[in-house]
Amino acid sequence: MSLIVQKFGGTSVGNIERIRSIAGRVLDAQQQGNRIVLVVSAMSGETNRLIEMACQINPIPFSKEYDLLISSGEQVSVGLVTLALNKEAKKRNFIREDQTIARGFLGHQIGIRTDNVSSKARIQAIDTSLLQKTISVGMIPVIAGFQGIDSENNITTLGRGGSDTSAVAIAAALKADDCEIYTDVDGVYTTDPRLCKKARKINKISYEEMMELASLGAKVLQIRSVELAAKYEISLHVRSSFNSSEGTRVISKKGLGAKMEQILVSGIAADAAQVKFTLQNLPNEPRTTAQVFSSLSESSIVVDVIIQDIPSPGALSLSFSVGSADFLKVKQILMKLRATHYPHLVIQEESNLAKVSIVGVGMQHHPGVASKMFSLLAQADIKIKLISTSEIKISCLILESQMKNAIECLHEGFGLDQAVD
Ligand code: ADP
Ligand code: MG
Repeated sequence: MSLIVQKFGGTSVGNIERIRSIAGRVLDAQQQGNRIVLVVSAMSGETNRLIEMACQINPIPFSKEYDLLISSGEQVSVGLVTLALNKEAKKRNFIREDQTIARGFLGHQIGIRTDNVSSKARIQAIDTSLLQKTISVGMIPVIAGFQGIDSENNITTLGRGGSDTSAVAIAAALKADDCEIYTDVDGVYTTDPRLCKKARKINKISYEEMMELASLGAKVLQIRSVELAAKYEISLHVRSSFNSSEGTRVISKKGLGAKMEQILVSGIAADAAQVKFTLQNLPNEPRTTAQVFSSLSESSIVVDVIIQDIPSPGALSLSFSVGSADFLKVKQILMKLRATHYPHLVIQEESNLAKVSIVGVGMQHHPGVASKMFSLLAQADIKIKLISTSEIKISCLILESQMKNAIECLHEGFGLDQAVD
Protein backbone atom coordinates (compact mmCIF):
# COMPACT_ATOMS: atom_id res chain seq x y z
CA MET A 1 0.00 0.00 0.00
CA SER A 2 1.51 3.31 -1.11
CA LEU A 3 1.17 6.62 0.68
CA ILE A 4 0.64 9.37 -1.87
CA VAL A 5 0.51 13.10 -1.21
CA GLN A 6 -1.60 14.79 -3.89
CA LYS A 7 -1.59 18.57 -4.25
CA PHE A 8 -4.31 20.31 -6.23
CA GLY A 9 -3.58 23.85 -7.46
CA GLY A 10 -5.92 26.81 -7.93
CA THR A 11 -7.46 25.85 -11.27
CA SER A 12 -7.94 22.26 -10.10
CA VAL A 13 -10.22 23.50 -7.30
CA GLY A 14 -11.40 26.53 -9.33
CA ASN A 15 -15.14 25.81 -9.21
CA ILE A 16 -17.64 23.34 -7.74
CA GLU A 17 -17.60 21.15 -10.83
CA ARG A 18 -13.78 20.84 -10.70
CA ILE A 19 -13.94 20.08 -6.97
CA ARG A 20 -16.47 17.29 -7.57
CA SER A 21 -14.30 15.91 -10.32
CA ILE A 22 -11.12 15.77 -8.21
CA ALA A 23 -13.06 14.22 -5.31
CA GLY A 24 -13.96 11.33 -7.63
CA ARG A 25 -10.39 11.03 -8.80
CA VAL A 26 -9.02 10.96 -5.24
CA LEU A 27 -11.47 8.24 -4.22
CA ASP A 28 -10.47 6.21 -7.31
CA ALA A 29 -6.82 6.43 -6.23
CA GLN A 30 -7.79 5.32 -2.72
CA GLN A 31 -9.84 2.40 -4.10
CA GLN A 32 -6.74 1.25 -5.99
CA GLY A 33 -5.21 0.52 -2.61
CA ASN A 34 -3.38 3.75 -1.84
CA ARG A 35 -3.46 5.91 1.25
CA ILE A 36 -4.01 9.49 0.16
CA VAL A 37 -3.17 12.82 1.78
CA LEU A 38 -4.43 15.96 0.04
CA VAL A 39 -3.01 19.46 0.01
CA VAL A 40 -5.14 22.16 -1.62
CA SER A 41 -4.58 25.72 -2.82
CA ALA A 42 -7.06 28.57 -2.84
CA MET A 43 -9.54 28.61 -5.73
CA SER A 44 -7.93 30.31 -8.75
CA GLY A 45 -8.03 34.11 -8.55
CA GLU A 46 -8.93 34.13 -4.86
CA THR A 47 -5.49 34.97 -3.44
CA ASN A 48 -5.10 37.79 -5.99
CA ARG A 49 -8.50 39.14 -4.98
CA LEU A 50 -7.46 39.19 -1.31
CA ILE A 51 -4.12 40.85 -2.12
CA GLU A 52 -5.82 43.55 -4.21
CA MET A 53 -8.15 44.41 -1.35
CA ALA A 54 -5.24 44.62 1.10
CA CYS A 55 -3.31 46.88 -1.32
CA GLN A 56 -6.27 49.23 -1.59
CA ILE A 57 -5.87 49.85 2.14
CA ASN A 58 -2.06 49.94 2.17
CA PRO A 59 0.14 49.64 -0.96
CA ILE A 60 2.82 47.87 1.12
CA PRO A 61 0.53 45.74 3.27
CA PHE A 62 3.05 43.13 4.43
CA SER A 63 2.37 42.23 8.06
CA LYS A 64 1.09 39.39 10.22
CA GLU A 65 -2.48 40.40 9.46
CA TYR A 66 -1.73 40.40 5.73
CA ASP A 67 -0.69 36.74 6.00
CA LEU A 68 -3.77 35.98 8.05
CA LEU A 69 -5.90 37.54 5.31
CA ILE A 70 -4.26 35.94 2.26
CA SER A 71 -4.18 32.47 3.85
CA SER A 72 -7.97 32.43 4.05
CA GLY A 73 -8.55 31.23 0.48
CA GLU A 74 -7.14 27.80 1.34
CA GLN A 75 -9.60 27.39 4.21
CA VAL A 76 -12.48 27.67 1.72
CA SER A 77 -10.92 25.03 -0.55
CA VAL A 78 -10.32 22.64 2.36
CA GLY A 79 -13.95 22.95 3.41
CA LEU A 80 -15.34 22.43 -0.09
CA VAL A 81 -13.03 19.55 -1.04
CA THR A 82 -13.71 17.73 2.25
CA LEU A 83 -17.47 18.14 1.78
CA ALA A 84 -17.19 16.86 -1.80
CA LEU A 85 -15.17 13.80 -0.75
CA ASN A 86 -17.62 12.87 2.00
CA LYS A 87 -20.58 13.34 -0.32
CA GLU A 88 -19.04 11.29 -3.13
CA ALA A 89 -17.96 8.49 -0.78
CA LYS A 90 -21.55 8.17 0.44
CA LYS A 91 -22.85 8.17 -3.12
CA ARG A 92 -20.48 5.31 -3.92
CA ASN A 93 -21.51 3.48 -0.74
CA PHE A 94 -17.94 3.51 0.59
CA ILE A 95 -19.28 4.84 3.89
CA ARG A 96 -22.62 5.02 5.69
CA GLU A 97 -24.72 8.19 5.86
CA ASP A 98 -23.42 8.96 9.39
CA GLN A 99 -19.74 8.42 8.52
CA THR A 100 -17.04 10.59 6.93
CA ILE A 101 -14.05 9.65 4.80
CA ALA A 102 -12.21 12.97 4.77
CA ARG A 103 -11.18 15.47 7.42
CA GLY A 104 -10.01 19.00 6.76
CA PHE A 105 -7.06 20.68 8.51
CA LEU A 106 -5.62 24.17 8.52
CA GLY A 107 -1.85 24.52 8.83
CA HIS A 108 -1.87 25.30 12.55
CA GLN A 109 -4.13 22.34 13.36
CA ILE A 110 -1.41 19.92 12.27
CA GLY A 111 1.49 21.96 13.60
CA ILE A 112 3.08 23.21 10.39
CA ARG A 113 5.70 25.30 12.16
CA THR A 114 7.49 28.03 10.20
CA ASP A 115 9.94 30.83 10.88
CA ASN A 116 8.44 34.27 11.43
CA VAL A 117 9.12 35.92 8.06
CA SER A 118 5.66 37.09 6.99
CA SER A 119 4.70 36.24 3.39
CA LYS A 120 7.92 34.31 2.75
CA ALA A 121 8.00 31.94 5.71
CA ARG A 122 9.93 28.67 5.59
CA ILE A 123 8.63 25.44 7.07
CA GLN A 124 10.73 24.26 10.02
CA ALA A 125 8.80 21.25 11.33
CA ILE A 126 5.55 19.37 10.96
CA ASP A 127 3.95 17.39 13.77
CA THR A 128 2.61 14.33 11.99
CA SER A 129 0.82 12.66 14.91
CA LEU A 130 -2.71 13.82 14.04
CA LEU A 131 -2.13 13.14 10.36
CA GLN A 132 -0.83 9.62 11.07
CA LYS A 133 -3.83 8.94 13.27
CA THR A 134 -6.21 10.13 10.55
CA ILE A 135 -4.52 8.08 7.83
CA SER A 136 -4.35 4.95 10.00
CA VAL A 137 -8.15 4.75 10.23
CA GLY A 138 -8.53 4.98 6.44
CA MET A 139 -9.47 8.66 6.37
CA ILE A 140 -8.14 11.21 3.89
CA PRO A 141 -6.63 14.33 5.47
CA VAL A 142 -7.33 17.46 3.39
CA ILE A 143 -4.74 20.07 4.32
CA ALA A 144 -4.64 23.80 3.57
CA GLY A 145 -1.50 24.55 1.56
CA PHE A 146 0.49 27.81 1.64
CA GLN A 147 0.17 28.38 5.40
CA GLY A 148 1.78 27.61 8.71
CA ILE A 149 2.22 29.07 12.16
CA ASP A 150 5.25 30.74 13.74
CA SER A 151 6.64 30.38 17.26
CA GLU A 152 4.31 33.14 18.50
CA ASN A 153 1.23 31.48 16.99
CA ASN A 154 0.93 33.97 14.14
CA ILE A 155 -0.37 32.57 10.88
CA THR A 156 2.35 32.74 8.22
CA THR A 157 2.30 32.13 4.47
CA LEU A 158 4.97 30.56 2.31
CA GLY A 159 5.08 32.88 -0.74
CA ARG A 160 3.25 32.51 -4.05
CA GLY A 161 3.08 28.88 -5.13
CA GLY A 162 3.67 27.89 -1.50
CA SER A 163 1.17 25.01 -1.57
CA ASP A 164 3.70 23.07 -3.66
CA THR A 165 6.12 23.42 -0.77
CA SER A 166 3.47 22.44 1.78
CA ALA A 167 2.85 19.24 -0.22
CA VAL A 168 6.53 18.30 -0.46
CA ALA A 169 7.18 19.10 3.21
CA ILE A 170 4.22 16.92 4.23
CA ALA A 171 5.40 14.15 1.88
CA ALA A 172 8.85 14.32 3.51
CA ALA A 173 7.46 14.36 7.05
CA LEU A 174 5.18 11.37 6.34
CA LYS A 175 7.87 9.57 4.29
CA ALA A 176 5.35 9.29 1.46
CA ASP A 177 6.08 7.10 -1.56
CA ASP A 178 5.08 9.73 -4.09
CA CYS A 179 4.14 13.39 -4.29
CA GLU A 180 1.81 14.31 -7.14
CA ILE A 181 1.37 17.96 -8.10
CA TYR A 182 -1.85 18.36 -10.05
CA THR A 183 -2.08 21.50 -12.14
CA ASP A 184 -3.63 22.98 -15.29
CA VAL A 185 -0.93 21.81 -17.74
CA ASP A 186 0.20 18.25 -18.53
CA GLY A 187 3.58 18.59 -16.82
CA VAL A 188 6.76 20.63 -17.00
CA TYR A 189 7.38 21.94 -20.51
CA THR A 190 10.52 23.15 -22.28
CA THR A 191 9.07 26.62 -21.71
CA ASP A 192 5.76 28.09 -20.54
CA PRO A 193 3.24 26.49 -22.95
CA ARG A 194 1.09 29.59 -22.64
CA LEU A 195 3.86 31.79 -24.03
CA CYS A 196 5.27 29.50 -26.72
CA LYS A 197 3.07 27.22 -28.80
CA LYS A 198 6.01 24.99 -29.69
CA ALA A 199 6.78 24.13 -26.03
CA ARG A 200 7.07 20.38 -25.47
CA LYS A 201 6.39 18.34 -22.37
CA ILE A 202 9.52 17.03 -20.64
CA ASN A 203 9.18 13.44 -19.38
CA LYS A 204 11.97 13.60 -16.80
CA ILE A 205 13.95 16.50 -15.43
CA SER A 206 16.61 16.73 -12.72
CA TYR A 207 16.01 18.54 -9.44
CA GLU A 208 18.85 20.91 -10.32
CA GLU A 209 17.36 21.99 -13.64
CA MET A 210 13.89 22.26 -12.17
CA MET A 211 15.24 24.43 -9.34
CA GLU A 212 16.81 26.80 -11.84
CA LEU A 213 13.68 26.91 -14.01
CA ALA A 214 11.50 27.52 -10.95
CA SER A 215 13.74 30.25 -9.56
CA LEU A 216 13.91 31.92 -12.98
CA GLY A 217 10.17 32.23 -13.42
CA ALA A 218 8.64 28.86 -14.37
CA LYS A 219 5.87 29.07 -11.80
CA VAL A 220 4.70 25.49 -12.40
CA LEU A 221 6.55 24.57 -9.17
CA GLN A 222 7.65 26.82 -6.33
CA ILE A 223 11.44 26.69 -6.01
CA ARG A 224 11.37 25.79 -2.30
CA SER A 225 9.30 22.71 -3.11
CA VAL A 226 11.97 21.48 -5.51
CA GLU A 227 14.77 22.22 -3.01
CA LEU A 228 12.95 20.20 -0.37
CA ALA A 229 12.21 17.37 -2.79
CA ALA A 230 15.90 17.19 -3.71
CA LYS A 231 16.98 17.27 -0.07
CA TYR A 232 14.67 14.43 0.97
CA GLU A 233 14.83 12.64 -2.42
CA ILE A 234 11.10 12.82 -2.92
CA SER A 235 10.08 12.03 -6.46
CA LEU A 236 7.71 14.67 -7.77
CA HIS A 237 5.15 13.92 -10.42
CA VAL A 238 3.76 17.07 -12.06
CA ARG A 239 0.58 16.23 -13.98
CA SER A 240 -2.76 17.55 -15.14
CA SER A 241 -5.91 17.39 -13.05
CA PHE A 242 -7.90 17.48 -16.33
CA ASN A 243 -6.67 14.17 -17.76
CA SER A 244 -4.84 11.05 -16.62
CA SER A 245 -1.81 11.23 -18.93
CA GLU A 246 1.67 10.75 -17.48
CA GLY A 247 3.19 14.05 -16.47
CA THR A 248 6.78 15.00 -15.69
CA ARG A 249 8.95 13.24 -13.14
CA VAL A 250 11.32 15.51 -11.26
CA ILE A 251 14.10 13.22 -10.07
CA SER A 252 17.80 13.08 -9.20
CA LYS A 253 20.43 13.50 -11.92
CA LYS A 254 21.53 9.88 -11.65
CA GLY A 255 18.04 8.75 -12.63
CA LEU A 256 18.18 10.70 -15.87
CA GLY A 257 20.78 8.73 -17.79
CA ALA A 258 23.75 9.98 -19.80
CA LYS A 259 21.64 10.91 -22.82
CA MET A 260 19.93 13.72 -21.01
CA GLU A 261 23.26 15.32 -20.12
CA GLN A 262 24.06 15.67 -23.80
CA ILE A 263 21.19 18.09 -24.21
CA LEU A 264 22.66 21.57 -23.95
CA VAL A 265 19.51 23.41 -22.99
CA SER A 266 16.60 21.61 -21.35
CA GLY A 267 14.29 24.52 -20.80
CA ILE A 268 13.73 28.25 -21.07
CA ALA A 269 12.24 30.30 -18.28
CA ALA A 270 10.96 33.84 -18.42
CA ASP A 271 10.04 36.23 -15.68
CA ALA A 272 8.15 39.36 -16.65
CA ALA A 273 7.68 42.38 -14.42
CA GLN A 274 11.33 42.93 -13.53
CA VAL A 275 12.80 46.27 -12.51
CA LYS A 276 16.43 47.30 -12.87
CA PHE A 277 17.95 49.66 -10.32
CA THR A 278 21.19 51.49 -11.00
CA LEU A 279 22.98 53.16 -8.09
CA GLN A 280 25.64 55.72 -8.92
CA ASN A 281 28.10 57.79 -6.87
CA LEU A 282 28.50 55.23 -4.12
CA PRO A 283 31.87 55.45 -2.30
CA ASN A 284 34.36 52.91 -3.66
CA GLU A 285 35.06 51.29 -0.30
CA PRO A 286 35.27 47.60 0.60
CA ARG A 287 32.10 47.54 2.69
CA THR A 288 29.75 49.51 0.36
CA THR A 289 28.42 46.57 -1.68
CA ALA A 290 27.92 44.44 1.42
CA GLN A 291 26.00 47.22 3.13
CA VAL A 292 23.64 47.85 0.21
CA PHE A 293 22.79 44.18 -0.27
CA SER A 294 22.52 43.34 3.41
CA SER A 295 19.96 46.16 3.81
CA LEU A 296 17.95 44.51 1.05
CA SER A 297 18.30 40.95 2.32
CA GLU A 298 17.25 42.00 5.82
CA SER A 299 13.88 42.76 4.25
CA SER A 300 13.90 39.36 2.50
CA ILE A 301 14.31 40.97 -0.92
CA VAL A 302 15.71 38.57 -3.48
CA VAL A 303 18.10 40.47 -5.72
CA ASP A 304 19.16 39.10 -9.04
CA VAL A 305 21.62 39.81 -11.82
CA ILE A 306 24.08 42.13 -10.10
CA ILE A 307 26.70 44.20 -11.91
CA GLN A 308 29.33 46.28 -10.14
CA ASP A 309 31.35 48.88 -11.96
CA ILE A 310 33.96 51.48 -11.02
CA PRO A 311 33.41 54.30 -13.55
CA SER A 312 35.98 56.60 -11.89
CA PRO A 313 38.56 55.84 -9.15
CA GLY A 314 36.56 56.98 -6.12
CA ALA A 315 33.07 56.01 -7.29
CA LEU A 316 31.20 52.75 -7.39
CA SER A 317 28.13 51.87 -9.46
CA LEU A 318 25.81 48.95 -8.84
CA SER A 319 23.04 47.62 -11.06
CA PHE A 320 20.67 44.87 -10.08
CA SER A 321 17.20 43.59 -10.86
CA VAL A 322 14.28 42.70 -8.59
CA GLY A 323 10.74 41.52 -9.20
CA SER A 324 8.39 44.48 -9.57
CA ALA A 325 6.36 43.28 -6.56
CA ASP A 326 9.34 44.36 -4.44
CA PHE A 327 9.79 47.69 -6.25
CA LEU A 328 8.31 50.00 -3.59
CA LYS A 329 10.04 48.18 -0.75
CA VAL A 330 13.44 48.41 -2.49
CA LYS A 331 12.95 52.08 -3.32
CA GLN A 332 12.20 52.82 0.33
CA ILE A 333 15.30 50.95 1.51
CA LEU A 334 17.54 52.73 -1.00
CA MET A 335 16.19 56.16 -0.04
CA LYS A 336 16.84 55.36 3.58
CA LEU A 337 20.41 54.34 2.73
CA ARG A 338 20.88 57.65 0.92
CA ALA A 339 19.59 59.58 3.94
CA THR A 340 21.71 57.70 6.48
CA HIS A 341 24.93 56.76 4.63
CA TYR A 342 25.30 57.90 1.03
CA PRO A 343 24.19 61.53 0.49
CA HIS A 344 25.52 61.62 -3.12
CA LEU A 345 23.76 58.43 -4.17
CA VAL A 346 21.86 58.70 -7.48
CA ILE A 347 19.11 56.11 -7.85
CA GLN A 348 17.84 55.26 -11.34
CA GLU A 349 15.23 52.71 -12.19
CA GLU A 350 14.00 51.08 -15.37
CA SER A 351 10.80 49.08 -15.32
CA ASN A 352 8.91 46.94 -17.86
CA LEU A 353 11.80 44.51 -18.14
CA ALA A 354 11.84 40.73 -18.30
CA LYS A 355 14.42 38.10 -17.51
CA VAL A 356 14.83 35.31 -20.05
CA SER A 357 16.98 32.34 -19.04
CA ILE A 358 18.22 29.14 -20.60
CA VAL A 359 18.78 26.14 -18.29
CA GLY A 360 20.53 22.82 -18.84
CA VAL A 361 22.91 20.53 -16.96
CA GLY A 362 24.55 19.81 -20.33
CA MET A 363 25.86 23.35 -20.74
CA GLN A 364 28.50 22.99 -18.03
CA HIS A 365 30.57 20.74 -20.30
CA HIS A 366 30.01 22.68 -23.51
CA PRO A 367 31.64 26.04 -24.21
CA GLY A 368 29.91 28.49 -26.51
CA VAL A 369 26.38 28.23 -25.13
CA ALA A 370 26.46 31.82 -23.85
CA SER A 371 27.74 33.25 -27.12
CA LYS A 372 25.07 31.30 -29.00
CA MET A 373 22.38 32.77 -26.74
CA PHE A 374 23.68 36.32 -27.28
CA SER A 375 23.89 35.78 -31.06
CA LEU A 376 20.35 34.43 -31.23
CA LEU A 377 19.06 37.44 -29.30
CA ALA A 378 21.12 39.81 -31.49
CA GLN A 379 19.68 38.26 -34.66
CA ALA A 380 16.22 39.00 -33.28
CA ASP A 381 17.30 42.60 -32.58
CA ILE A 382 16.93 42.17 -28.81
CA LYS A 383 19.17 44.31 -26.63
CA ILE A 384 20.55 42.74 -23.43
CA LYS A 385 20.57 44.99 -20.34
CA LEU A 386 22.11 42.70 -17.71
CA ILE A 387 23.55 39.18 -17.85
CA SER A 388 24.08 36.61 -15.12
CA THR A 389 25.34 33.05 -15.35
CA SER A 390 25.76 29.97 -13.20
CA GLU A 391 27.02 26.49 -14.07
CA ILE A 392 23.72 25.43 -15.57
CA LYS A 393 21.96 28.65 -16.56
CA ILE A 394 22.37 31.96 -18.38
CA SER A 395 19.94 34.83 -17.76
CA CYS A 396 19.51 38.03 -19.74
CA LEU A 397 17.46 41.03 -18.76
CA ILE A 398 15.63 42.48 -21.77
CA LEU A 399 12.61 44.67 -22.55
CA GLU A 400 9.38 42.97 -21.46
CA SER A 401 7.82 43.75 -24.84
CA GLN A 402 10.45 41.51 -26.47
CA MET A 403 10.07 38.58 -24.05
CA LYS A 404 7.79 36.38 -26.17
CA ASN A 405 9.95 36.90 -29.23
CA ALA A 406 13.10 36.06 -27.21
CA ILE A 407 11.58 32.82 -25.90
CA GLU A 408 10.55 31.74 -29.39
CA CYS A 409 13.91 32.44 -31.00
CA LEU A 410 15.86 30.72 -28.19
CA HIS A 411 13.45 27.74 -28.20
CA GLU A 412 14.05 27.25 -31.90
CA GLY A 413 17.76 28.16 -31.84
CA PHE A 414 18.59 25.59 -29.15
CA GLY A 415 16.62 22.84 -30.91
CA LEU A 416 13.81 22.60 -28.37
CA ASP A 417 11.12 22.75 -31.05
CA GLN A 418 12.03 19.18 -31.98
CA ALA A 419 11.23 16.17 -29.78
CA VAL A 420 14.29 14.57 -28.12
CA ASP A 421 13.10 11.02 -27.46
P1 ADP B 1 -1.35 25.81 -9.83
O1 ADP B 1 -2.45 26.76 -9.54
O2 ADP B 1 -1.83 24.44 -10.21
O3 ADP B 1 -0.30 25.78 -8.77
P2 ADP B 1 0.35 27.50 -11.45
O4 ADP B 1 -0.39 28.56 -12.19
O5 ADP B 1 1.06 27.88 -10.21
O6 ADP B 1 -0.68 26.32 -11.18
O7 ADP B 1 1.40 26.77 -12.39
C1 ADP B 1 0.99 26.25 -13.63
C2 ADP B 1 1.32 27.24 -14.75
O8 ADP B 1 2.74 27.37 -14.84
C3 ADP B 1 0.90 26.80 -16.12
O9 ADP B 1 -0.43 27.15 -16.38
C4 ADP B 1 1.90 27.49 -17.04
O10 ADP B 1 1.36 28.62 -17.65
C5 ADP B 1 3.01 27.95 -16.09
N1 ADP B 1 4.35 27.56 -16.53
C6 ADP B 1 5.42 28.38 -16.59
N2 ADP B 1 6.48 27.73 -17.06
C7 ADP B 1 6.10 26.46 -17.28
C8 ADP B 1 6.79 25.30 -17.75
N3 ADP B 1 8.08 25.31 -18.10
N4 ADP B 1 6.08 24.14 -17.84
C9 ADP B 1 4.78 24.11 -17.48
N5 ADP B 1 4.08 25.17 -17.04
C10 ADP B 1 4.73 26.34 -16.93
MG1 MG C 1 1.36 26.98 -8.38
